[in-house]
Amino acid sequence: MTTKKRPSSAAPREGYFGPYGGQFVPETLMGALAQLDREYEAAMADAAFRAELDRCYRQIAGRPSELYFCRRLTAQLGGAKIYLKREDMNHTGAHKINNTLGQALLAVRMGKKRLIAETGAGQHGVATATAAAVFGLDCDVYMVTEDIRRQALNVFRMKLLGTRVVPVTTGQCTLKDALNEAMRDWMGSVGHTHYVLGTVAGPHPFPKIVTEFQAVIGREAREQMLAAEGRLPDVLVACVGGGSNASGLFKPMIDDASVAMVGVEAGGRGMKLGDHAASLCAGSPGVLHGTLSYILQDADGQTAPVHSVSAGLDYPGVGPEHAYWKDSGRVRYTACSDDDAISALMTLSRSEGIIPALESSHAVAEALRLAPTLGKDKILLINLSGRGDKDCNEIAEILRRRGESV
Ligand SMILES: *Cc1c(COP(=O)(O)O)cnc(C)c1O
Repeated sequence: MTTKKRPSSAAPREGYFGPYGGQFVPETLMGALAQLDREYEAAMADAAFRAELDRCYRQIAGRPSELYFCRRLTAQLGGAKIYLKREDMNHTGAHKINNTLGQALLAVRMGKKRLIAETGAGQHGVATATAAAVFGLDCDVYMVTEDIRRQALNVFRMKLLGTRVVPVTTGQCTLKDALNEAMRDWMGSVGHTHYVLGTVAGPHPFPKIVTEFQAVIGREAREQMLAAEGRLPDVLVACVGGGSNASGLFKPMIDDASVAMVGVEAGGRGMKLGDHAASLCAGSPGVLHGTLSYILQDADGQTAPVHSVSAGLDYPGVGPEHAYWKDSGRVRYTACSDDDAISALMTLSRSEGIIPALESSHAVAEALRLAPTLGKDKILLINLSGRGDKDCNEIAEILRRRGESV
């Protein structure tokens, strides 16, 4: 899509994280983004809105999610105590519902009758379709044809929930093309439609809004950890696709200097361009989908193809605040391969009876590596962003190709 640079000013720049962020969008969307920012700020200052959001988190998402101590896994690894923040136990199976409920409530407040969204694996689509049904809103979800085929169950779930799934056949036919189509729709429909962006990327104010709606994870985890251990964790570990579950866990503890933070990207088949989706570990600054951040691009500045075993991490960009945290050194970013994520999934399944999503398994893999290097007095908290039921077909297929079985 075309980009338009916002005039710069000398004041601390609203919507920027250091040099990253901003609003690189066509003129037609500037008004909608400004309205969204105004309404969001007014909503968050309104006790009735916050009470309604809390009620939704409780009664629809099933919050608070548990803080769970991994007794057997900790004993097996012989190092740091391992805890999980159980976002996998939320309604619809992942952290995404925290954001879609918040944005749907905002849409209602703005008097908008229709939601649109993009989805890759279909998790954000299902979470958006769920929120649309809860509030009686129309909903269209953009999805590329290949994902519609691969994610037939999620497509069916969305339709059951009353959402239309719009096939996308443009560009490279990847998640970023579905995002482009959703943006294009929004340019012609902003008067009555709210665009529910699925992660902490996109133009200002989306990174701020999605971070706040996901920060319920970190606020709960902070309190729960103080209640369980009397202190904060030493290390937080979360997987990073666009970065929303990681931001949600990190942000409420970002000023707690004793808490180290690790973001784990998709290392895919290896670190050659096209084989992974590790924008922070291997990318460079550039503009994608309305924001300046680290992106994966070739020598001509074209967005590179990406690969990951987990569809939810398969995105060539990342939220701008992560770019800022990377440069400042506040958060360490690393990548985990497809194979290591799959074996971490098996390890957690068998040691704790919890089948994690392939996305979350990237964080689990890094924790398995890290925990034995830390003393038994240390505490490591993994954000278990979602459950793995959706991935079982994919894992069975991979094992079959390898000539293995469970
Ligand atoms: C979508 C998804 C992710 C990746 O998105 P972020 O915005 O990086 O959190 C991670 N885990 C699960 C379970 C997901 O569904």
